Amino acid sequence: MSDHCLFCKIVGGAIPAKIVHEDEDCVVFHDIAPAAPVHLLVVPRHHIISLQEVNPTDAGWLGRIMALLPKIALENGCNPGHDGGFRLMVNSGIEGGQEVNHLHFHILGGKRPWQGRT
Ligand code: 5GP
Ligand code: ZN
Repeated sequence: MSDHCLFCKIVGGAIPAKIVHEDEDCVVFHDIAPAAPVHLLVVPRHHIISLQEVNPTDAGWLGRIMALLPKIALENGCNPGHDGGFRLMVNSGIEGGQEVNHLHFHILGGKRPWQGRT
């Protein structure tokens, strides 16, 4: 938990968001500026800045989050009627275009023309 972190505040309930899933590892909510028909942010409860700070001791929560992603995507409108596929995006560090410095995973999906523009 960081007092100055936007996503820690959302995870802690101090700032509202359209939350679609919560468990011991993560909170999932709608991106405030969606870049696709489905645009969710999967935010680990653990405050860690980016993928560059991840190390092998994080394998537990990180692995459980990865295993959860397809279910979250399917339940939230990613290509219903097709295979439920989605794009997973992680911006890591300044060079990676990361704007919020708390590791998060973008789930992008829905009708396909948005692909290629992200
Ligand atoms: P990044 O560039 O760090 O990977 O992505 C940050 C994402 O957080 C952006 O897609 C942006 O629209 C989203 N975002 C920024 N502020 C807020 C907020 O207050 N609430 C929500 N739900 N999303 C936010
Ligand atoms: Zn944080």
